[in-house]
Amino acid sequence: MPTASATTYNNYVNGRWVPSSSGRTFENRNPADTSDLIGVFQQSDAADVDAAIAAAARAYEQWRLVPAPLRAEILFRAAQIIVDRKETFARDMTREMGKVLKETRGDVQEAIDMTYYIAGEGRRMFGQTVPSELRNKFAMSVRQPLGVCSIITPWNFPMAIPSWKIIPALVCGNTVVFKPSSNTPLSALNFVNVLIDAGLPPGVVNMVTGDADVGTAMTTDERVRVVSFTGSTTVGRLVNQASAPTFKKVHLEMGGKNVVMIMDDAQLELAVEGCLWGGFGTTGQRCTAASRVVVHARVYDAFVEEFVKRVRALRVGNGLDEGIQMGPSVSEAQRATVMRYIEIGQQEGARLLTGGRSLSTGAHARGFFVEPTVFGDVDPKMRIAQEEIFGPVVTVMRCHDLDEAVAIGNGVAYGLSASIYTRDVNKAFAAMRDTYTGIFYVNAPTIGAEVHLPFGGTKATGNGHREAGVAALDVFTEWKSIYVDFSGKLQRAQIDTQDL
Ligand code: NAD
Repeated sequence: MPTASATTYNNYVNGRWVPSSSGRTFENRNPADTSDLIGVFQQSDAADVDAAIAAAARAYEQWRLVPAPLRAEILFRAAQIIVDRKETFARDMTREMGKVLKETRGDVQEAIDMTYYIAGEGRRMFGQTVPSELRNKFAMSVRQPLGVCSIITPWNFPMAIPSWKIIPALVCGNTVVFKPSSNTPLSALNFVNVLIDAGLPPGVVNMVTGDADVGTAMTTDERVRVVSFTGSTTVGRLVNQASAPTFKKVHLEMGGKNVVMIMDDAQLELAVEGCLWGGFGTTGQRCTAASRVVVHARVYDAFVEEFVKRVRALRVGNGLDEGIQMGPSVSEAQRATVMRYIEIGQQEGARLLTGGRSLSTGAHARGFFVEPTVFGDVDPKMRIAQEEIFGPVVTVMRCHDLDEAVAIGNGVAYGLSASIYTRDVNKAFAAMRDTYTGIFYVNAPTIGAEVHLPFGGTKATGNGHREAGVAALDVFTEWKSIYVDFSGKLQRAQIDTQDL
């Protein structure tokens, strides 16, 4: 039950902060210290979603007519407001989901970068003009908004991911109903407050907090034209199914099981550094986490020795403390999943090289901490090498050449990010070509995307769309082709063929 001192936060619908229609709420607690109650949020249901969609549908009729450069001006203001509030937002984020301050500052920075970058599209959003095959006829295409967009987001990038979706949706002239993860409603609310303060008209963005029933209502309502979802593959499949009968445009960004391939000519120290950051950054809770490392047999022992030494030295604790390098799992359920996989790995016969225990005494007593864990001698077919764990667990495997490394890399259901460490440019380019992922790195870990290139994955990671970059506009617009005949007579394409 909420304590007397906890702030209660409302939904944002049609320009007003309102409680859920049922009056139900939920608590948001710090995963590094569960005695720290961050706030109480609305446990909404389909009735709240209905009101939010109605508001967004009404607002759309005006918002779509606002010239895109004017829409962008509001977004430029929003970017500057995030800059001004960056430190507060980063601290709120560390408190509510646990990643260390350096990373939450990066998360907020990504929202700043994305907002500035996409606001610039307000003066671009290029279409095509092409020559007509007929005389005195003009042919072009323009991007059109679609209407109400349902934006459903996870907790691991609580401000960056909402910005990747909401900002492009808005600049293109759509309106939004936004449901953040129940693990990170405060960062979502901070972001919505920015948009309000930047001058967004009522109804253009609405936020409804809650769980799966909120998401279901947002994906089944026929007034919604776009669903943009980031989260697990299991839920993504449900979202896809729920959205199908009403023919929505569905953009899915889902799980990952990313690979770092280390060749025998790699700079080993650089590779170790990359695997440390890629594997244990965000406590391994990144869709792009470097959870699989495939090492050439000739350098396997040297790599493992140095890697394990560095992993053991990682400082685990409350991310608000600047000296800490790795925070907790986001929730008790997430920690339980990680612990289950550590058990599975041992049963499968992988060698536990370091870690493997949950940390629950002293400074760790009130949080969901797990030791950074490394498994060696992993068979690529083991479950720990195939399934997304979403925690601080790295699996290390051997290969004997590039082809084998690429086969292992491609041998999972997911296809988000891959990387190679090598000093041989031929190997780097061959791996880049043959790895079936949406993102590829050379001499860098599997994390670290920038906002102005497309982001997304293949196979069970995505359904063919990309976010970020100009690709984001493809999700939130559809093409209209326009023909203007100024010949003053009927001209029939493909029929009235003309001589020179
Ligand atoms: P999740 O799938 O449990 O939840 C994601 C969102 O969906 C939450 O807001 C949740 O409340 C909502 N939801 C739950 N059931 C729903 C339903 N039936 N209909 C509609 N919405 C529903 O994921 P999570 O635990 O929040 O996030 C972790 C997952 O996200 C990992 O699998 C990770 O790989 C993935 N992720 C992917 C990317 C990417 O870009 N590919 C980025 C970040 C995270």
